[in-house]
Amino acid sequence: MLMKCEEVYHFLQAYLDGEIGPEEERKLEAHVRLCPSCKKKLFSLQGLITSIEDLDEARPDEGFTKRLIERLPEIAEPARRTDRGGFWRRFLGPRPRG
Ligand SMILES: [Zn+2]
Repeated sequence: MLMKCEEVYHFLQAYLDGEIGPEEERKLEAHVRLCPSCKKKLFSLQGLITSIEDLDEARPDEGFTKRLIERLPEIAEPARRTDRGGFWRRFLGPRPRG
C-alpha cells in the first residue's frame, strides 16, 4: 500500500533530516519513484538544502526544514533569475547574533 501524496509531504521533513523510520523511508521512496509530482518536490528540496549548505552565511537550524516545507509552494519552482543570496537571506531571516 503506497503512501498518499499528503503523507509523503508530511514525511518529507523527517526524511530530509534523516529522522524518518526505515519503514516510512521505504514507503516514501516507493511513492516518490512512482509519483513525478512528489519526486520533483523532493529533488527541489534536496537541491535547495544542498545549495544552502554551500552558503557560508546560511546556517540551517532545527526549524529550517520545517520552514522550507511550509514555504514549499513558493519555492518548488525556483526561478533561474532569482538572486540566490538575497533569496536565502529573506527566507532564513536575520542571522542570530553571537
Ligand atoms: Zn505523490
